Amino acid sequence: MDEEDLHTRLSTVLPTVREHAVSVDADANFPKASIEALGAAGLLGLTLSADVGGLGATPDQYATAVAAVAEGCGSTAMVYLMHLSAANVLTAATPTGHPDVLGELASGNKLGTLAFSEKGSRSHFWAPVSGLDEADGGLRLVAEKSWVTAANRADVVVASVRSVDAAGPMDCELYLVGADDDGYVVTGGFDGLGLRGNDSAPVDMSIVVDERDRLGDASSGFGLMMQVVLPWFALGNAAVSIGLARAALNAAIAHVSEARFAHLDSSIADLPTVRAYIAKAWTALAAHEALMRSTAQRIAAPDDGTILAVLATKAGCNEMALSVTETALRVAGGAAFSRHVGIDRPYRDARAGFVMAPTSDALHEFAGRALCGMELF
Ligand SMILES: Cc1cc2nc3c(=O)[nH]c(=O)nc-3n(C[C@H](O)[C@H](O)[C@H](O)COP(=O)(O)OP(=O)(O)OC[C@H]3O[C@@H](n4cnc5c(N)ncnc54)[C@H](O)[C@@H]3O)c2cc1C
Repeated sequence: MDEEDLHTRLSTVLPTVREHAVSVDADANFPKASIEALGAAGLLGLTLSADVGGLGATPDQYATAVAAVAEGCGSTAMVYLMHLSAANVLTAATPTGHPDVLGELASGNKLGTLAFSEKGSRSHFWAPVSGLDEADGGLRLVAEKSWVTAANRADVVVASVRSVDAAGPMDCELYLVGADDDGYVVTGGFDGLGLRGNDSAPVDMSIVVDERDRLGDASSGFGLMMQVVLPWFALGNAAVSIGLARAALNAAIAHVSEARFAHLDSSIADLPTVRAYIAKAWTALAAHEALMRSTAQRIAAPDDGTILAVLATKAGCNEMALSVTETALRVAGGAAFSRHVGIDRPYRDARAGFVMAPTSDALHEFAGRALCGMELF
């Protein structure tokens, strides 16, 4: 797809995303209208290929779209990110029993998500402790998933599970499970600090599966997670951080430019300290956007440094968003502490990126290992 097509499609969706963002956050509502608008614009098939009805976007275009949606509404961006993450790994390894799933995801007929994190192994999604038990005519996937975005709204769920004859915790597989299965039970709700509409809830699974539901070969789960899910998810998660930081900084600039000290006949922006904070925050944002775009290029044309770039990009953009949104809150003063300035929502939403697996701390550990020539695991 060309850039103009992408921007035209985004321009039809973003007003809806922005219109609903405040109520999605305030009432912890699932962003139904915004996801439907993404579907109507064809953007739920953003990264899927044209032969299944997708738009065939590059990693850079994907980052552009996810960041733009996040700038309008973090919850919508989170749901969108997980849908595309599911679509991308299903593209790489489409289960033989679900030949139409890519077309359904591309058209927006079905919403996808990932169910990796578990009660047992927490953020270490690469080591699921859930299992596959023998069941009549197949296997029963039994799992306690701790966070599933769009848990009550998704149709297509890509779930990780330890292989039957696993030699170690990373010997795992991915299965496509339907959220309409009786054995898919959402066991809680979501009442989070931020991303309040993303409907990320715990899910218990006891679902009969067979090899036609499996993505790829037996025990291919770890490879798919590292080679497909990690690059796309980390890039998209970084893009969410970029979009949220941009939203907070722009709101802060608007406020400090307008709000005035009447007795001094000056604006907040007339304070040099405030301008310096803003300049430093903008520089951090611009530098991390450049890192994200360079990593997008490296995902499109992988080289030896791609994985390190992926690890550093998610961690760096997540940390940058923590700092830039905090600066935005600081320079806009007490006014920003109330909701009307529009900084509190991206500030709260931006706090989720760094706890999403791999967490920033885990990524720094992995990146440090890679830089010191050590094995990652
Ligand atoms: C809004 C939201 C939506 C989510 N959606 C999904 C989803 O759709 N699908 C999904 O599978 N998961 C999802 N998650 C889960 C997410 O990916 C993480 O697994 C989860 O946030 C980890 O929380 P925890 O309490 O288990 O962290 P813990 O694993 O308990 O981590 C606690 C602390 O230990 C640190 N730590 C852990 N391991 C290491 C390490 N190796 N090195 C250094 N420090 C480490 C962490 O950085 C953190 O500071 C979502 C999370 C959030 C907040």
